[in-house]
Order: sequence, then C-alpha cells, then structure tokens
Amino acid sequence: MNSFSNPIFLLKILKSYLVDINRLRRLNDEKLRKYQDKRLRKMVKFAYTVPLYHDKYKKEGIHPEDIRGIMDIKKLPTISKYDFKKYYPDGIISSKINKNKLIEVTTSGTTGKSLSIYVDMFDIVAGLFGYIRSIREHGIDWRKDKLTIIADFAPHTVESGYIHKGLQPRLSSNLFFKNMQWLNTNDPPEKVIEEINKFKPDFIGGYVGMLGHLALLKEKGFGKDISPRVIATTGSPLSNSLKDLMMKSFNAEIFQSYGSTESGSIAFQCKNGKYHVMSDLVHLEYLKNGKEVSSEEAGKIVLTKLYGIGTPIIRYDAINDIVSPSVEKCNCGLSGGLIEKIYGRDDISLYSPDGRIILPASFGEIFSRILYELKTNKLKDAIIIQHSLKKIELQVVIDEKQRDIGPSVEKIFSVLRQGLQEKLGSNVEIITKEVKKIDRQKARIIQKLDREKLKITGYV
Ligand SMILES: [Zn+2]
Repeated sequence: MNSFSNPIFLLKILKSYLVDINRLRRLNDEKLRKYQDKRLRKMVKFAYTVPLYHDKYKKEGIHPEDIRGIMDIKKLPTISKYDFKKYYPDGIISSKINKNKLIEVTTSGTTGKSLSIYVDMFDIVAGLFGYIRSIREHGIDWRKDKLTIIADFAPHTVESGYIHKGLQPRLSSNLFFKNMQWLNTNDPPEKVIEEINKFKPDFIGGYVGMLGHLALLKEKGFGKDISPRVIATTGSPLSNSLKDLMMKSFNAEIFQSYGSTESGSIAFQCKNGKYHVMSDLVHLEYLKNGKEVSSEEAGKIVLTKLYGIGTPIIRYDAINDIVSPSVEKCNCGLSGGLIEKIYGRDDISLYSPDGRIILPASFGEIFSRILYELKTNKLKDAIIIQHSLKKIELQVVIDEKQRDIGPSVEKIFSVLRQGLQEKLGSNVEIITKEVKKIDRQKARIIQKLDREKLKITGYV
C-alpha cells in the first residue's frame, strides 16, 4: 500500500506536524534535553539491530543499556563514511525493518565521494517539517503561502530520492503540495526565473549559487512579477555582499538554512540572524583533535540524528563541516543549541604556503564578486585544482550565449585571481584556464596535496 493512503501513516504525519514543528518553542532547554536523552536511548537501541552498529558497539564493549542520555554519548565510537561503505547495503539497515519500505539515497558528490544510505517515508516528512519550521519562524505559512523550492534534482542526489522517489510517487492528489513549486537548480537561471515569475511565490528556497544568479537577473529587469517576502539559502555559506545583492534586488528578508545530505535540516537563522540547531532532530558535537571545543572556537562536526528507521546516523564524523558553537542566548524564544559561525567543509579546502586552511566560505566570497561587482552571470561553472602549496589552477566554464556581453573573460579571470591571491598570499602562482565543461559529479576543489603531510597552522 502507498504510504500516503495508509491511514496510520497519515495520522502519524498529522501528529508529527502538530507536535514536532512547535517543539523548539514548546519545550524549555531542560525539557528539550530530557527529550534528546530519550530519543538518543531509542536510536542507540535501534542501532543495535543494525549490523554496522552492532559490530562496532560489541567490539567496544558498549551495550545500549550503558547509554542513558546525551551525557553518555562520548562512550559510543564515531562512525565514518568507510563504515557505511563496508556494511552497505544490508549491514546499514535494521534487521527488524523491511528493506522494501526504505528508499535508498546517495549523498551528493561535492567532494567526488558518494555514499548511499537508506531513509523511510517518515524521515522524509520529518525533514520537510524541519524546513517548514524554519520558514515559519520567518512568517511563512506553508499551507497558505506559495513556496518555490529550487532543489538539486540531478539523478543521484538526495533531493531526487526524497522528492521524486519518495514524495511525488506517493501523492495521488495535490493534498500536500498544491502551493509548492519544485524547480531544478541544474537548469539555466534564465529558465528558472521565468518559471518563478509565472508562479509568483511568497517564499523562495535554493542554493546560494542559483539564488545569486537570480538576484542578478532580477536586478537586470528579469522576473518582474517576483516579489517574495522571504528567501532561504542553503548549500554553501552566504557572503555578506551577495546577501546584500539578494536583499536589494528581491526586496526580501534573507536567512540561511544549514543541513547535510545525511541528516536533513541541522540549523537555521531565526529573525535575529542567529543560527539555531534543530536540537530535537539532531545533536551536534564540535570536536578539535577529538576534544570538544570551547564556545566560539571552530571545530569539526560530529552528528547524531535523533529520528528515523532508515540507516541510523549516530556520532557520524564525516560531514566534515567546520562550525563554531555559541553559548550565547537568543531572545527569539526558541530552545536548543546555537551556532556562532559555519565555515564550510574542510575536505574541500585550499592551503596557503604558511599552512592555513582556506574554507569554502572564503571561496564563496571570491566567486560572489563576479555577481555583485562585475554584474555578470556568464561564469557558468568553476573548479580549483591545488597542485602544490605554491601553485593553484582555476578552470572556468563561460556561458557561450553571454561571451560578448558585459565584462570580458579576462576581467573575470583577473577578479578571481586577485581574490585568490588575497587569501593565499602573493607568492602563490595562480593559473587560469577556460574549459568547455566541468563534470558536476566531481569535486569542486581538487586537492593534490597530501593532507597528512601538511603542517596546519589555522584558518584564513
Ligand atoms: Zn533566535
């Protein structure tokens, strides 16, 4: 039977909708912690029926009974991508769950390495509710307002798994999504803006790159009927100048939403611009050399997902995002943890000759200059190859239709070179090259340096 025609499933969704969406407003920090403890106990017990976790925990001499709550979480070993690959496919799902009920999704290849995990329909709905919660904090009502979501519908992505394989085949009616427009971020921005113009949404959610292109097109007079109240960006960190460009051209409120392909929603910015962790859905640890960092210091995220009956995600250390936590309080009334800053993924970074790591947030700044300074979107794609500490190669794809319009290709190169030079230092050679095509499945940063041999001194 189709999940959505199953009355028990629908009741579960309805209950989840009423209870889950408001949880960060309803529960105070103390009650939220108790809720997290209960969820973690459940997830660890469930994970014990999954061969991967069972073997790992047995080997460490850990039994689910030993985990009473979040305070015990460090007793559990961390899980890597390698563990998932080793046990894939049957070893990453519970022996108690019928595999036919699950949907396989493959995480995106921003680093060139893909990973398959399983989710169930309820996971997908819970993930969507996480998103709905974040837009609700910005005054958007998903049942009344019109929403445009520009997702990555390339065949291998999680979004395709969630929406094309998960939700859409199960929706015989437009019961849930009649006011939602789903667009593909791999389509040309000119086509996307036309579609949005016809739909006239109150809210637009999408990746930083695509939304930047749209903001520029809008500024140039396209999409006259588009006037959303709120825009949410996701993917890479949004630079301040690109945020300004978006705010001005759309005259909308902008907030950033942060998630991972493995876990769905992780955090989002509230009205005050502070990042709130969805602490009822995920638990985050911020580690540096295996130890918890102090507040506002940057650390690598270790993630635990607190729901779902697909592949459990417990102390997963391969998100590779560098994030600093905050102990400050926000007066917006949401409970749960706060994040000070999201720097981006450290497995797609460059290294300066003096051993500092340049994270994606910095590349975002450099590339967004093409949009807000040069006012052109003829830069279609780019890839950076670090050959050595002293030599970086930048390959870009130029949109043929726009080649002779606006600033020259050489001007674009010079802005990018200058940006990279500012971050890396002047003694690094930067080679620029135009190419016809870049394989989107491949990593955006190709690192030829041996990380193990580098002496890291900090972040730029
Ligand atoms: Zn807040």
